[in-house]
Amino acid sequence: MTRTFFVGGNFKMNGSLDKVKSIVEGLNAGSLPSDVEVVISPPFPYLKWAKDHLTASTVEIAAQNSFDRGDGAFTGEVSVAQIKDVGSTWVILGHSERRTILKESDEFIADKTKYALDNGLKVILCIGETLEERQKDETLTVCNRQLDAVIAKVSDWSDIVVAYEPVWAIGTGLAATPDDAQDVHSKIRAHLAEKIGEKQAEGVRILYGGSVNGKNATTFNGKPDIDGYLVGGASLKPEFLDIIKSRA
Ligand code: PEP
Repeated sequence: MTRTFFVGGNFKMNGSLDKVKSIVEGLNAGSLPSDVEVVISPPFPYLKWAKDHLTASTVEIAAQNSFDRGDGAFTGEVSVAQIKDVGSTWVILGHSERRTILKESDEFIADKTKYALDNGLKVILCIGETLEERQKDETLTVCNRQLDAVIAKVSDWSDIVVAYEPVWAIGTGLAATPDDAQDVHSKIRAHLAEKIGEKQAEGVRILYGGSVNGKNATTFNGKPDIDGYLVGGASLKPEFLDIIKSRA
């Protein structure tokens, strides 16, 4: 089964309209490979601008969050319909910053995932263990628990991309080694196979995220269960293009 290589850029709460403009212009001029799916995720205020100005046909837009219900009295939340209305096709859910800082539970993330999928958005579902959990050898327990919450509510995984993002590797400059990442990815896929069936599990892209940059991206090449990257800090820099082209 061939899984299309996928590179996501999560800008987080960074940047300005000028910054987003320069990133979009860089992508438009970047001669991007036709066989790499790219998804950029600017902050909400810039989603429409980015969508309207992207000319690269392989690049889509993701929101960084969505709510688990439709229009209503939910001050500060953004609905799936609104995200789609401005041309975004993806949403990032379960990012560790939302799990830890905003205290989002596995269950809430699963509800948001189900709602987004049922209403036509594709989901980049982030999972991953903290340093403390890793030191206690709980990496897979945590990843499987986070996956199981979604598995309990979603049976069709064709519009989900899983991002394995060990929390200790995010923004620290300390990426997982390619061997360690491959090991966890293959176990995540095995867990998915057990729970949603081998055929579906073979089709699910599993991205690695955590301090991927223009220099280390190629070191993950050849790892069969690493289907791309979710990139934070480096997605704001020109080296994002090197990451997109790293599998060439
Ligand atoms: C992220 O926040 O999704 C991420 C992977 O960040 P960074 O690349 O900066 O580690």
